[in-house]
Amino acid sequence: MSHALTEISGLWAEASKILRHKICATTFEQWFANIVPVRLDNDRIILGVSDDFFADWLRNNYEDILASAIQEAGGKAYTIDFESGHIAKAPAVNCVMPVKEEPRATPRYTETVQTPVPAQKRIHNGINPRHTFENFVVGEENRYAHAAAMTAAGTPGAYNPLYIYGGTGLGKTHLLQAVANETLNRNPNAQIEYVTCEEFLNCYVDSLQQRKHSEFRNRFRTADVLLVDDVHQLANKAQLQEEFFNTFNTLFHKNSQIILTSDKQPSEIAGLEKRLVTRFESGVAVEITAPSFETRLAILKMKQESHLVKFGDDILNFIASNVRSSIRILEGALIRLVAYSSVTRDRAVTLKTAEQLLKKLFEQENMTRKITVETIQKRVAEHFSIHVHDIIGKKRPKNIAEPRMIAMYLTRKMTDKSFPEIGLEFGGRNHATVIHAVKEIEDSMNTDPAFKQTVSALQRQIQAIS
Ligand code: ADP
Ligand code: MG
Repeated sequence: MSHALTEISGLWAEASKILRHKICATTFEQWFANIVPVRLDNDRIILGVSDDFFADWLRNNYEDILASAIQEAGGKAYTIDFESGHIAKAPAVNCVMPVKEEPRATPRYTETVQTPVPAQKRIHNGINPRHTFENFVVGEENRYAHAAAMTAAGTPGAYNPLYIYGGTGLGKTHLLQAVANETLNRNPNAQIEYVTCEEFLNCYVDSLQQRKHSEFRNRFRTADVLLVDDVHQLANKAQLQEEFFNTFNTLFHKNSQIILTSDKQPSEIAGLEKRLVTRFESGVAVEITAPSFETRLAILKMKQESHLVKFGDDILNFIASNVRSSIRILEGALIRLVAYSSVTRDRAVTLKTAEQLLKKLFEQENMTRKITVETIQKRVAEHFSIHVHDIIGKKRPKNIAEPRMIAMYLTRKMTDKSFPEIGLEFGGRNHATVIHAVKEIEDSMNTDPAFKQTVSALQRQIQAIS
């Protein structure tokens, strides 16, 4: 080992030790245990993390704590830089072919007996053991997805494929992995393959390069349960789609459970072959939508318990009312307070402190969520091939009245605007007209699944472009 490498390793080992004392074990395991010390560059320390999301998270939530631990360990201040693409301990992104168990030493007296073919042992290193059904808070928005995932774990093949879709940070991966954990609980020998679509691609490319394509096929086509996260990433990758199509068919015909997640409905994925769209639509598709205030609060209460802290209701309400779009961000806000309270050993965080600590995070959340009435009107108009001025105007033919009501409904759902304000944005209409429109759309969504799909697809598209 080079001198420089020893130096960074030593420094990081020391800083880790300090961090372990400063923050709770769960937080440490979740955010720091997998950091890879890369190199020291004068006053700069470069730390390796898996991806940009992880780096951003550390920067936004733990930069101060990290900097002070490194300073304490190294005796001077360092600028911290993160480098994505590093995986600690576990081998790279699940791209590991099943390994054969070492055959046991055969006693001499059984020499003539045939040794049984050793079982294939799968490596489940992409599955987070904390992603269980017990740790999943059920609300109106994820009730069907949760129930369907439970069925998939309890009665494999009953819903095949199960397709879970919805916006980012809403619990799709959690549910997918809960199925894996539950299946393994029931049967530790279950042959489960969990991969993100990107990992599937990497493994596929590796297998071609290393001429191990049959091993790759064998790995995925012999699974009892195949869980593929973020299948929208198959888009525009023709060769991968071909491979996936064949894998899918093999498993489907054996009635092995297939569960897929995506940020869109199959038909909305541009660049996905028709035959895959048809396959994905042939089972059960369930949507997860953004959590209500009550669900957000329930999640915060459950998560604080797992971190062994208890914040005041005013603080939890404050977080729940500021973060609406993603449970990942909701969790981030809570972890920030957990980190703060464990560093200061001051468990009684006040609302004022919470407001200060979370100001930046909430500003970002609000920035990314700046959904405007114009965006909604524009997207709805495009979808129905009409003009925005039709939506705002006075005309009332059905082909315009319905899109207008949908746009009003989405404005009410996706922005903070009041009924009178929405009326003003839609050509100076009365607030009672808006209330009526919202009610009408809600009723139609409850009675007409196809209509509901159209409206929720529009909602997701607006969320994605905002
Ligand atoms: P997605 O895959 O939809 O982007 P994830 O499954 O990664 O979202 O969820 C983001 C974070 O929020 C994870 O830490 C997950 O455990 C948590 N989470 C999401 N939904 C719930 C829920 N209903 N109850 C508890 N935690 C949740
Ligand atoms: Mg996910």
